[in-house]
Amino acid sequence: MADETKRLRMASGTPVDDDQNTLTAGPRGPALMQDVHLMEKLAHFNRERIPERVVHAKGAGAYGVFECTTDMSKFTRARFLSQAGKKTEVFVRFSTVGGEKGSADAARDPRGFAVKFYTEEGNYDMTGNNTPVFFIRDPLKFPDFIHTQKRDPATNAPNPDMFWDFLSLTPESIHQVTVLFSDRGTPRSYRHMNGYSSHTFKWYNVKGEVYWVQYHFKTLQGVQNLTRQEATRLAGEDPDHATKDLFNAIAKGEFPSWRVCVQIMPAKDAKTYRWNPFDITKVWPHKDYPLVEIGTMTLNRNPANYFADVEQSAFSPGNFVPGIGASPDKMLQARIVSYHDAHLYRLGPNYQLLPVNAPKACKAANYQRDGYMRLDDNGRGGPNYWPNSMGGPAPDASVAEPPIDLEGQAARHPQVLTDDDFFQAGELYRRVMTDTDRDHLVGNIVAHLGNAQKRIQLRQTALFFKADPDYGRRVAKGLGLDVKQVERLASMSQEERGKATSS
Ligand code: NDP
Repeated sequence: MADETKRLRMASGTPVDDDQNTLTAGPRGPALMQDVHLMEKLAHFNRERIPERVVHAKGAGAYGVFECTTDMSKFTRARFLSQAGKKTEVFVRFSTVGGEKGSADAARDPRGFAVKFYTEEGNYDMTGNNTPVFFIRDPLKFPDFIHTQKRDPATNAPNPDMFWDFLSLTPESIHQVTVLFSDRGTPRSYRHMNGYSSHTFKWYNVKGEVYWVQYHFKTLQGVQNLTRQEATRLAGEDPDHATKDLFNAIAKGEFPSWRVCVQIMPAKDAKTYRWNPFDITKVWPHKDYPLVEIGTMTLNRNPANYFADVEQSAFSPGNFVPGIGASPDKMLQARIVSYHDAHLYRLGPNYQLLPVNAPKACKAANYQRDGYMRLDDNGRGGPNYWPNSMGGPAPDASVAEPPIDLEGQAARHPQVLTDDDFFQAGELYRRVMTDTDRDHLVGNIVAHLGNAQKRIQLRQTALFFKADPDYGRRVAKGLGLDVKQVERLASMSQEERGKATSS
C-alpha cells in the first residue's frame, strides 16, 4: 500500500494484514489465541457501552453560539453577559427523561434542555427542562419518583398504578403534572419547545449586590406540539423523529434559535414574596417579574460523532462562573452534587478532560492528578500541591462570591402543603390554556390515568379538582368516576384522603 496513513492498524499501531479471516489451524479451524487482532477487536466491542444515564438517557445535541444582546453587568459580573454583541460557544443536549437510550422521542415526558456555555471564565452549565417547574421540591423524593416513572420491578414494564400512586400521594406535583399532560408534554421536536432553568439561581455584580434569577429560552421556531394520537403514531413509526429532526435541520442550514431571557428578583424581595422563590414547583408570574432579554442562542453545528460529543457530554448545575451561583433551592443543592457524582460513575474521574466537556475559551489549571483515563499531559513536571513556590496556579480572592446570610435550625423541616400549591396549576388551566388545550389535557389524562386502579384515579382526580373544580369534574366525567365522591375527597386533608383511598 502506497499511502501509509490509510493503513489499518491495531490500537498499538501495529499494521493489520487481514481483517476478514481469523487466524486458524487449517481452513476449518480451530481459531488460534495468538490472533491478537481478533482478541483485541472482540474485547473492545464488549466494552463499547458505558453506563446509561439513569435519567435523560435518550438525547440529541449540537454546538452553537450564544450572543449577548444586553449588557447585564448591572446584575452579574459574568463576563459572557457583560457586553451586547459578545459571542460564546455553546453545546446543547436535549433529551427525554424516563425512557432508556433506545426509547421513542415522542414519549410524554419532560424534555431535558442542557446548555454548556464555554466562557472565558470557565464552563457555565444551565441544566434545565422544557417545563418551568418540577414534580417534587425535596431531593429525598427523587429516586422514588423516578422509579415510579420507569419500570415495575416485577414485570419490567411501565405501571400506571406506580406512576399515579406516587403522584397522587405527592400533591406538590400537580403543577408539573398539568404541564406534562398538556400537549407541551409531547413537543413536536426539540426545536419547537422552550427551555427553562426551573431553578432559581444567584447572580451578583462587581459591587457584591445579589439578585435571584430564572432563565427562559423561548423558541424562535414557535412552540409546536404533537397531539396524543400523533405522538403515539410517531413513537411506533419513527421513534427517533426528534433526534433526526435536529440533525437534519442543522445539516440543511436551518439553524434553530432561542431568545434567551431572565426574570430578575432583587434579593430583598425573597423574604416577603408570596411564593418561596426557591420552590421549584412554582413559577414567578410574569406580571411580578417580567422577562428581560439577555441574548439569543443558535445551534449551527452538528457533532461529527454522536458518542464522542453527545453521549460523553456531561453537564452539571454546579458548573458556575464568577457572577453566577447557587440559590438555596434544596433540589438544586442536591443536583449540584449528584450530577457530578453521576459523571464520575458514568465517565470516570477525568471526564472534564474529554473535548466536549473541557473548557474551550480558557484552560483548566489545578492540582488534580492521575486517575483513570488521564488523557492530557497530567501537569507534566509541575508541582502537584498547593501552596507552592514553583509558580503553579494560585487562587484569586477577587472572584469570591459575596457572602449571604443563612439561618435556621438544622432539622428535617416538614413540607407544609397549602392551597397555594394548587393555585398555579389552576391558573394554567383557567387563564392560560385555550378550550382546545383544556380538551386535550383532559383527554391525555383520561387515556393514561384510566389504566390505574380506581382508588388511585379518585385520589388523583381530587387533586385536579383542588387545582380547579372544572378541571376535576371533567377528568372525573372522562373516567366515569362519581363527581360527588371526588369533591368529598378534595375537601379532605392529604392524610385523610390517603386513608380513604388506601388499598
Ligand atoms: P402569563 O400569561 O404571563 O404566561 C403564561 C405562560 O404560560 C407563557 O410563558 C406561556 O409560554 C406558558 N404556557 C402556555 N401554555 C402552556 C402549557 N400548556 N404548559 C406550560 N406553559 C404554558 O402567565 P403567568 O406568568 O401569570 O403564569 C400563569 C401560569 O402560566 C403559571 O401558573 C404557569 O402554570 C404558566 N407559566 C408561567 C411561566 C412563568 O415563568 N411565569 C412560565 C411558563 C408557564 P409561551 O409564552 O412561550 O407560549
